[in-house]
Amino acid sequence: MQAEVIAIGDELTTGQRLDTNSQWLSTELGLLGIPVCFHTTVCDTLEAGIDAFRIAAARCDLVVATGGLGPTADDLTRDVLAAVSGQPLDLSAAALEAVESRFARRAVAMPESNRRQAMFPRGTRIIPNPDGTAPGIDLDVRRPDGGTSRIIALPGVPSEMREMWRGTVASALAAMLPDAGVFVHRRIKCFGAGESAVEEMLPDLIRRGRDPLVGITAHEATITLRILARGSDEAECLAKIAPTERTIRECLGPHVYGIEDDEVEDAAVRALAGAGQTLGTIEIGTEGRVANCLAQAQSRRQAQLPSHPHDPAPAVYRGGLVLPAAAVVQVEHESAASMKSLADRARAECGATLGLAVGAARPGPDGRSVLTIALSDGQRVEQIEHMLGGGPTLAFSRAAKTAVDLVRRKLEPRIAPS
Ligand code: ATP
Repeated sequence: MQAEVIAIGDELTTGQRLDTNSQWLSTELGLLGIPVCFHTTVCDTLEAGIDAFRIAAARCDLVVATGGLGPTADDLTRDVLAAVSGQPLDLSAAALEAVESRFARRAVAMPESNRRQAMFPRGTRIIPNPDGTAPGIDLDVRRPDGGTSRIIALPGVPSEMREMWRGTVASALAAMLPDAGVFVHRRIKCFGAGESAVEEMLPDLIRRGRDPLVGITAHEATITLRILARGSDEAECLAKIAPTERTIRECLGPHVYGIEDDEVEDAAVRALAGAGQTLGTIEIGTEGRVANCLAQAQSRRQAQLPSHPHDPAPAVYRGGLVLPAAAVVQVEHESAASMKSLADRARAECGATLGLAVGAARPGPDGRSVLTIALSDGQRVEQIEHMLGGGPTLAFSRAAKTAVDLVRRKLEPRIAPS
């Protein structure tokens, strides 16, 4: 079996938006063991869409497309698929009711154009969309050689597309693979060591043909280890994953901070809550990224806790100051004492038990920039020198994560593992 991924939209072909859906879907298809041989990006016209799908269906057994399922006149994917499959568009009463009830819940009248989102080429297996109004299309089309090609069309909005993939599509595709069964994957998230260093710490886990398969990816210094198990049911997959996960945790120790979509800042906020501590920050060399990521992590945590939204969980992140480098020339050459006093200022001004300070970037010994990060509990201060590397965006993001990770590492031994 080989697959093609199609990204649909004028936004993409005109260069206004980067096609990240194809990248994500190709990774997911790879995890299922389905090789992707072609990526096509196509504009919003009917003719171009029909061409793209005809060519894709003729050369691939599986075509996964995103975009063009919305209610507006330029959303033509359903019409394209009706033409390619030679089937009329039928109204699905159940899908119409689902779209109508979404509008009713928000007490908004449904625009007539949204009816289109309940129209599907005859023969479609409808893919539910829990987060939006556009359901997806799962349809078999005849190929010129007499075979069939399976077409999956999902909305363009990345979060909706991913949810539908995880909720419905991935397992449906896994079931059609030759050694049918289920697959389960687990992501272990690490921070504090580079990709190759992590690989070296693991005993021969990352190799082709292993069962379960372990893959490694890096994004802005966060390392993700993905364990993929295939088995006859979920319990069998989980039983395969458990010893591999244990080995990874044993080998990487404190570098492992979480699982699945966890970010380092989520782990830091969790550790603060678990240890009964609060945090204030001051940052100079990170453009506000420390405050931004901690505030976001805190909102995510509050949204997950049952007390939300009328009685949010108490804030463990008490806020932060973001200072421009020019305004703090006096702390440019951060001595241990001045960094401790900055961190203590963060504690005092934010009314927190811990203060985290990130100093200004300054020239380091080997020509690279360096900044100092300090964490104070009022008595003891932990201080690290962080080398900035990569372009500014990456460098600041890494520095902010390193600062936040210092908080996690200080507190994690004090809390019970989850
Ligand atoms: P909607 O119901 O929102 O109209 P749709 O299926 O019609 O869904 P599009 O209108 O094509 O989707 O895209 C909606 C938004 O999703 C785009 O504005 C863009 O922000 C994002 N998007 C679409 N395709 C991609 C892609 N390939 N990669 C990343 N983002 C995308």
